[in-house]
Amino acid sequence: MLIRDLLAGRAGADAKGVRPEDSLREAAGRMASHNVGALVVTDDGGKLVGIVSERDLARAIARYGGGVADRPVSDVMTRSVITCSGHQGVADMLSLMTANHIRHLPVLEGDRLVGMVSTRELTQAYEALQAQANTDALTGLSNRRHFLESLDIEWARSRRYGRPLSVAMIDVDRFKRVNDTYGHEAGDRVLSVLARHFDRQLRAVDRTGRLGGEEFAALFPETDVRGARVACDRLLRAIRGTEVDIDGAKISFTVSIGLTRANPGPDGNPGTEDPAAILKRADGLLYAAKSQGRDRIQMDASAA
Ligand code: GH3
Ligand code: MG
Ligand code: MG
Repeated sequence: MLIRDLLAGRAGADAKGVRPEDSLREAAGRMASHNVGALVVTDDGGKLVGIVSERDLARAIARYGGGVADRPVSDVMTRSVITCSGHQGVADMLSLMTANHIRHLPVLEGDRLVGMVSTRELTQAYEALQAQANTDALTGLSNRRHFLESLDIEWARSRRYGRPLSVAMIDVDRFKRVNDTYGHEAGDRVLSVLARHFDRQLRAVDRTGRLGGEEFAALFPETDVRGARVACDRLLRAIRGTEVDIDGAKISFTVSIGLTRANPGPDGNPGTEDPAAILKRADGLLYAAKSQGRDRIQMDASAA
């Protein structure tokens, strides 16, 4: 995302300004009425000559005491101002501001001042972008990359503290049939309905993700495979009882689940498997659930 996109998306993007000869009373009033933490200082030609912030006002009060309000902005403004242009990236500008301890950044297009952005605004935009990059657009669940990151973290935690962690692979049964009979859009509807079941039936600390297509996975931290089985059973039941309305046609669907424990080792000690191997094992169990008739959970033989 570019700074320009950020300015385009907000009302009153113009930087609020004062003149160098304006009083600090004037500057403070303008900051308060526009609810901004800094103003650009421009000369008669509209050229940027500095920036005056709440921090500068506080410093001025400390320095000049009671008579401060009538002093001109030029007494306290910061003259060497770091600026950016609209085509620069939000993430880059955020690091620039952090590195330089600045909270407001005037935006120039050529010589022309087109706006000012604050760290708060950039942080919000950046966090929204991050969330978007981690999310599968159709279902709102974690995407594959983000889910695998969560798995790495939970796996490391589980090993370090010797805590249980269960992992499930979940795949929609005969999903091709849904697509072939009702169309791809109906298939997509089914996938988002399924995602809402994850939200409702699993705990907030459980993580779910869409690994791709109609294949999903769930992580159950602090949960042994028997506990996770209870959650997966609840999920299967809820899904069985659901009808998705597609233009009056009621579609029902089921899923199959391969469920395993992470870090199993002899006598309950941590094993040596890495997250990829755990997922592979869950996938093998999922395959077994399919071949045994679908709409069921297959667990490790040792946990059954
Ligand atoms: P099984 O019970 O063995 O899992 O059968 P299946 O038909 O679900 O399995 P298969 O893997 O053969 O088919 C998966 C289908 O999912 C094929 C593909 O067209 C469909 N699919 C994958 N991603 C999407 C998607 O994002 N939206 C929709 N609507 N369909 C998708
Ligand atoms: Mg399938
Ligand atoms: Mg599949």
